[in-house]
Amino acid sequence: MACPAVVLSAELQFSQGSRAICFTRRSMEILQQVGVADRMTAGGLPWRFGNSFYRGQRVFRMEAPHDDDDRFFPIINVQQQFLEEYLYDACQAQPLIDFRWGNKLTQLEQKDGHALLESITPEGPLCARERLGGGR
Ligand SMILES: Cc1cc2nc3c(=O)[nH]c(=O)nc-3n(C[C@H](O)[C@H](O)[C@H](O)COP(=O)(O)OP(=O)(O)OC[C@H]3O[C@@H](n4cnc5c(N)ncnc54)[C@H](O)[C@@H]3O)c2cc1C
Repeated sequence: MACPAVVLSAELQFSQGSRAICFTRRSMEILQQVGVADRMTAGGLPWRFGNSFYRGQRVFRMEAPHDDDDRFFPIINVQQQFLEEYLYDACQAQPLIDFRWGNKLTQLEQKDGHALLESITPEGPLCARERLGGGR
């Protein structure tokens, strides 16, 4: 059974600058389950060979195994902020997900069947009680 979820992000926007850029086949399989793999492959650069050069000479070569039946390349390059945008759009398409930018969690206390949260929001401090394990 799908449960409602509230996602809090202290940030006000997608990450500035890229951290992750190489996503593995396994990451893509997981991203496919949440419906963003097509957008990743549409804009990404897939690869399976890597070479390192020192003073013009190749000193290392990596070859990642790839089979014709594999759904995805061993690695695909996409800057992290694009992936964040694709995941955010997927959240927006889900009525059960309430995504809140600019909400910094300052305290979390797990109780029996619920949790007490405190966060700093753009409107000021908020104290909320959320039920655990689904349902509102
Ligand atoms: C230099 C570098 C290179 C990397 N390269 C790769 C790569 O090539 N491939 C790869 O797969 N992975 C790579 N990674 C790892 C990848 O970036 C992380 O695995 C990924 O970002 C983790 O995602 P996350 O959503 O768990 O955490 P994050 O992306 O760190 O997101 C956590 C979010 O929570 C927010 N937050 C923090 N505290 C609070 C709070 N109290 N209240 C509300 N929000 C809060 C933060 O602002 C942030 O937006 C790299 C990481 C680094 C640092």
